[in-house]
Amino acid sequence: MMHDRNYQEIIENICREIQPYAQLGRQADYIPALASVDPDKFGIYLSVLGGDDCMYGDYDTCFSIQSIAKVFSLAIALSLEGENLWMRLGKEPSGTPFNSLVQLEYEHGRPRNPFINAGALVVADVLLSHLDDAQEFFIQFVRQLSGNVTVDYSMEVAESEYETAYLNASIAYLLKHYVNLHNPVDEVLRFYSMICSVEMSCRDLARAFVAFAKSDEPFDHAGVKLSVSGVKRINAIMQTCGFYDEAGEFSFLVGLPGKSGVGGGIVAVYPSRYSIAVWSPRLNKHGNSIMGIKALERFTTETSESIF
Ligand code: GLU
Repeated sequence: MMHDRNYQEIIENICREIQPYAQLGRQADYIPALASVDPDKFGIYLSVLGGDDCMYGDYDTCFSIQSIAKVFSLAIALSLEGENLWMRLGKEPSGTPFNSLVQLEYEHGRPRNPFINAGALVVADVLLSHLDDAQEFFIQFVRQLSGNVTVDYSMEVAESEYETAYLNASIAYLLKHYVNLHNPVDEVLRFYSMICSVEMSCRDLARAFVAFAKSDEPFDHAGVKLSVSGVKRINAIMQTCGFYDEAGEFSFLVGLPGKSGVGGGIVAVYPSRYSIAVWSPRLNKHGNSIMGIKALERFTTETSESIF
C-alpha cells in the first residue's frame, strides 16, 4: 500500500543516484534575469494526500515558476469561461517548442493548447477581460492554494522578460491579427510576464498542486471553482501538453500529469495520491529540467506507481 512506503528514504536514494547527471545542461538565459540563478541548486518536495510530506535539498528556496504559472491561469480561465474557453484555443499537444510561431499561423490564430505560449497569452487575455485587477486576483489565488501568503511576483524577472519578449510579442500580434486577443497587446504581454515571474519553492508548488491531485472533489479556492471534470481536464492537459515538444517523452518516462517551467521547476500530480515538485535549473534542449525529469522518472520507477 502506498502509505506504507518510506517515501523519504526513496527520495534520498534517488537524489544520490542521479548525481552523475547533475552537471548536464544549463539554465535558461534568454530571459536575462534567469541567467544569474545558481545552476547547481536542487530541491524536491512530495505532498502525500493524507500522509506525511517528504523533502530533500533546496526544497525551501524560491525560484521563478515561469510556465508552471500557466496551470494556475488555466484554472482561473476555465472557472470564468467554462466550455466557451475552447472556442478560442485547442487541447491537443503541439509537438512544437513553447514559443513557436509557425503552427499558429497555419492554424489561423487558434493556439493548439493553453500551455504553449500562444495559448497562455489567450488565457491571460481572458483573465484581463473578466477581472478588475487580474494581477491581484492571480497572486491571491496562488497564495491561497499554496498556503503561503508571502508568495509574490518578481518585478526584476517580469521586467527582464518583458524587455526581451520579442517572440511572445510576435505571437501576440499574430493572435491580434486573427482577432483572438481582445485586450491591447502590451497589456497582455505585461500581465503574462508578471504571472511567469512568480517565485515559489518546491514546497509551495507541491502544496498548491494538492488541489489538482484531489481529483475526486470539486475545486473551490479563492473564488476559482471547478467541477470534478474541470480538474480532470486540467490534469489531462498537463499529461498531454505539459512539456512542449517533450510531452510524449515525459509521459513515457514518468507516467504522471505535470508541468515544467524554464526556471527549472517541474510539478507533477498523481491524482488522488500526491503532488510532487522538483527544481534544478539546468535544462535540456526542450527547456525542461534534466535532473527534474530524472528524479521523477526514478521516483515512479522505484515506487512502481504511475497512472499507467
Ligand atoms: N515566460 C517564459 C516565456 O514565455 C515561459 C517559458 C517556459 O517556462 O517554458 O518565454
